[in-house]
Amino acid sequence: MIVRSVVLVLACGLTASLNAQTQPSAATVFQNVRIFDGKVGRLSGSSYVLVRGNRIEQISSTPIPADRRADALLIDGGGRTLMPGLIDVHWHAMLVRPTPAAAMAADVGYTNLVAAAEAADTLLRGFTTVRDLGGPSFGLKRAIDEGIVAGPRIFPSGAVITVTSGHGDFRQLFELPRILGGPPTRMEALGASMVADSPDEVRVRVREQLMLGASQIKLTAGGGVASPHSPLDVSTFTEPELRAAVEAAENWGTYVTVHAYTPATIRRAIAAGVKCIEHGHLMDEATAKLIAQQGIWLSIQPFPDEMADVFPPGSQEREKAQEVLAATERAYALAKKYRLKTAFGTDVLFSQALAQRQGSLLAKLVRWYTPAEALVMATGTNAQLLAMSGKRSPYPGKLGVVEEGALADLLLVDGNPLEDIKLVEDPAKNFVLIMKDGKIYKNTLGR
Ligand SMILES: [Zn+2]
Repeated sequence: MIVRSVVLVLACGLTASLNAQTQPSAATVFQNVRIFDGKVGRLSGSSYVLVRGNRIEQISSTPIPADRRADALLIDGGGRTLMPGLIDVHWHAMLVRPTPAAAMAADVGYTNLVAAAEAADTLLRGFTTVRDLGGPSFGLKRAIDEGIVAGPRIFPSGAVITVTSGHGDFRQLFELPRILGGPPTRMEALGASMVADSPDEVRVRVREQLMLGASQIKLTAGGGVASPHSPLDVSTFTEPELRAAVEAAENWGTYVTVHAYTPATIRRAIAAGVKCIEHGHLMDEATAKLIAQQGIWLSIQPFPDEMADVFPPGSQEREKAQEVLAATERAYALAKKYRLKTAFGTDVLFSQALAQRQGSLLAKLVRWYTPAEALVMATGTNAQLLAMSGKRSPYPGKLGVVEEGALADLLLVDGNPLEDIKLVEDPAKNFVLIMKDGKIYKNTLGR
């Protein structure tokens, strides 16, 4: 009985504090902040920012008359940095914490609750938006958008679409052969990935994801590191299959992005009308040139050196991870040389520990970019990639920038991240206030 009431008190306490933090304030005024606007790599002078509802209404270098309504909140920034919420354009909200086996076999209710806990942590790391590149995240997204649980905005792709044996085909060999028109496999029933082996099948699977609410479509055009059945060097979809996906997505006002590492895979995807390449680590000089000429996005990740360690020594997956890691240096060099439209994402999979280093992975970009360039990439530039969803964006309005009229996703940082990017490695300490959609989810000022 005592145990029970303690649990009850704990549960009520949690609910109360979550509600208190997420009560929308009609207006918030940030006083005396220096702004990093997500576009230009320097701070403004002392500024004042008024947020009303979910938008930034006014930015001024002189004090904004405080809204006298009782529900107006005044925040004394004390000269701290106000910047846009961070964006991760390669995320898998449903696959961050579970093991691959648990993702496939665990109770779906449990999987969703685990993903919700991770989503709250993601937001509290300062990532106010993620582009989800595979996994059944529609329910989580809806619960976040309705304010039932805390989490980032999600641009969902729904299920990854792959070919038989491709990256994302996690079936066991004994499950072959597939009977065309037969019942869905476990991964398909979950909405994690869909197998399609002809242009017609691709069209069906793409349109299903769009019907579910996908803001963009993700196909795996070549082999991958973590996939058991696809070598890294293979191209999987044919050009007509890729083109079928592109056509269906474009009819719906959005675009296709593909998982692709090798020059051959990247070139085929571009020929088919794909607008964004995920990874691209193994590209060569000629392919980088093509990406530049065609104005294609490169969504590449500074994978952590330990990525290979999660696979058993001697395994093919470990070898593939090492090959990708070894190519990372050159890929970023090419991206810089040809001024590719480069976006930042992490692609954290199956590791809560790694997810906690999401900010560190961003800071890792200073190997190739200045802190300011890295932070512009993770805010204003990433938002331009999100904007390719057009009217299929779930969140009409401007993201990734601090400007009048933009959506109010804001971080108040204790220090200047443009000088010291390591501040983003410890969000618990250095992000003293986190706002998403005009609502404050964290505020440690005055404590
Ligand atoms: Zn991925």
